[in-house]
Amino acid sequence: MSRTSRLLRLAQKASQANSRSISTNGKGLGGAAQQAVGCATTNGAAPAPGPNGTHAAFQQTRGAALAAQALKVEPQVEVVPEIKIDLFGAVSAAEAEDGIQPGVFKNVDGHRFEDGRYAAFTAEITEFVPKERQYTDPVRTLAYGTDASFYRLNPKMVVKVHTEAEVRRILPIAKKHGVPITFRAAGTSLSGQAITDSVLLKLSHTGRNFRNYEIHGDGSTITVEPGLILGEVNRLLAAHKAKGGHPIQYKLGPDPSSVDSCMIGGVVSNNSSGMCCGVSQNTYHTLRDMRVVFADGTVLDTADPISRQSFLRSHRSLCDGVSALARRVQGDRELTNLIRRKFAIKCTTGYSLNALVDFPADDPIEVIKHLMIGSEGTLGFVSRATYNTVPEWPNKASAFIVFPDVRAACRAASILRDETAVDAVELFDRASLRECEADEQMATLVPDILGADPMAAALLIECRGRDADALQASIDEVNRALVRHGLPFGAKAAEPKALETYPFSFDTKGDAVWRRRKYRVRRGQDPGTFYYSVLDNGITSEEYWRVLDAADDLSFALFYYTGAASRAGMSYSGAVLGTPDGAWPEAHADRISAALDRAGIKLWELSRVDNSACGGAPLGLA
Ligand SMILES: Cc1cc2nc3c(=O)[nH]c(=O)nc-3n(C[C@H](O)[C@H](O)[C@H](O)COP(=O)(O)OP(=O)(O)OC[C@H]3O[C@@H](n4cnc5c(N)ncnc54)[C@H](O)[C@@H]3O)c2cc1C
Repeated sequence: MSRTSRLLRLAQKASQANSRSISTNGKGLGGAAQQAVGCATTNGAAPAPGPNGTHAAFQQTRGAALAAQALKVEPQVEVVPEIKIDLFGAVSAAEAEDGIQPGVFKNVDGHRFEDGRYAAFTAEITEFVPKERQYTDPVRTLAYGTDASFYRLNPKMVVKVHTEAEVRRILPIAKKHGVPITFRAAGTSLSGQAITDSVLLKLSHTGRNFRNYEIHGDGSTITVEPGLILGEVNRLLAAHKAKGGHPIQYKLGPDPSSVDSCMIGGVVSNNSSGMCCGVSQNTYHTLRDMRVVFADGTVLDTADPISRQSFLRSHRSLCDGVSALARRVQGDRELTNLIRRKFAIKCTTGYSLNALVDFPADDPIEVIKHLMIGSEGTLGFVSRATYNTVPEWPNKASAFIVFPDVRAACRAASILRDETAVDAVELFDRASLRECEADEQMATLVPDILGADPMAAALLIECRGRDADALQASIDEVNRALVRHGLPFGAKAAEPKALETYPFSFDTKGDAVWRRRKYRVRRGQDPGTFYYSVLDNGITSEEYWRVLDAADDLSFALFYYTGAASRAGMSYSGAVLGTPDGAWPEAHADRISAALDRAGIKLWELSRVDNSACGGAPLGLA
């Protein structure tokens, strides 16, 4: 049966100390939380079905075709494939014949029916993974059916793995029975790479599993296991410096905004980046060694010469194949240059093809090690990683420089990249500046942004230095480069400003303007409650969520949240009602009404939000 998921959302109540409305990145405050809930209960792939079961997108096309007919114009009808969504929101493409043939295992999402392979897989792993760590119930498979993306694939089974030895045994069993496996660390991926409709191997969030580490020497290298959270590793390095009295503070190079949630396994396998790390400090460029479990259960530890040698012997044909591939690519100058050019900047996705050109073809282990990075768990399980850490210099300064148009700002960014050793440059377009205008602190720090030209833009520039002199040298270099190229400064073309109008700030005010997108979810003390906080463009919102009520069979779930963005002088509260198919759960109307009453919300405040098409604003909110 074809279904679509929708959310019924209750109007957010806001009480504001001032009457300004504030939005961050085009989202209302709490928008990220709404999105998160939307992620858990809706999917973005399916157009809403029309009254006769056709999809809305198709109906629009048909409407256009009729109009075109009236004008005697050849209509351009685009065929929109039918999409099916099951009761729990799993998406699959509906095929013409659409019949699942008994006994035929199809590698198509939504068609993971049981032909005996899952039973055989389960029976074998149960010999060493206790049943308590195998989840097949609808609630937990539903919970693990989403990551931070808008996709949903509910796993057939979630297995909480505790040790590398377990993974080494599970993978060959899965291979033997043809059971697809997906790994999951913290599940904060934004593109659905931590979900599956088959078997999900989950690193535990709690306990000691996959959480060992060893800091080497002064902290310039660290060996970590995949269950450690990135921010946690940085705090361990800070404690190591303090305890050992080491001169330099080190941290891991990758700095995704999800730093306080994401785990090393995901950081390595996504080759995560961030605001400041760019390409040069991502895992690809800062990883020293890796321990990896392959599908046949073999372990390769690139830090161990014996392991390297034995892998070269046991996997001769794989290594020869990788060498031959690298040789072929390196022999093609045009392709090599193209790969180098593409991977010099952040906008790449998929496998790290640069591994094929960056290392000698006769060193397949080095190529394989780097191909693993960013492979999203498709090539093997990372059970350990040794990083070369990067210095976190204590001396930092930042400047927020405004330009009358975005072209000048972009030119300045290129100049700084090519001619200086600047540490970070972030572009603020006019829309972002508008956000800053609404922020009192920002407006005080950079008064120029008030009433800027329609095309005005700004650069937030950060310089860092080992000591005060090195920092000053870096700042001077940046200022000289900008002046040398005669760039226009100032938010209004008609009122040019000198570069000195935008001095570097050495105190923590710099941090205040540094555009950060940090979010954090913490479990509350009471079951069914959690805290959510998001920092975006300098505005922090803190929210407390709890489950107001939910049906045992999850035919509805009602959440209530209260939040505040104290800097913006704004507090708000609201509720979200989710149902699997978007229909109003009439059978539970009284119960829902009573639950809402307890939260001080009236039923008539309900408004329907349909984000099944997932275009535009979060949850389809205008
Ligand atoms: C608010 C927010 C902000 C974000 N900001 C950024 C950002 O600035 N930059 C950025 O790059 N990303 C960002 N992300 C995306 C994401 O958080 C990062 O890519 C993060 O590093 C993923 O880590 P994770 O632990 O959640 O991995 P998961 O999502 O659990 O997994 C990521 C991938 O790694 C695989 N995997 C996990 N563990 C292993 C293992 N041990 N061995 C092999 N494969 C494994 C999984 O199968 C999956 O393919 C953001 C996400 C959110 C929600």
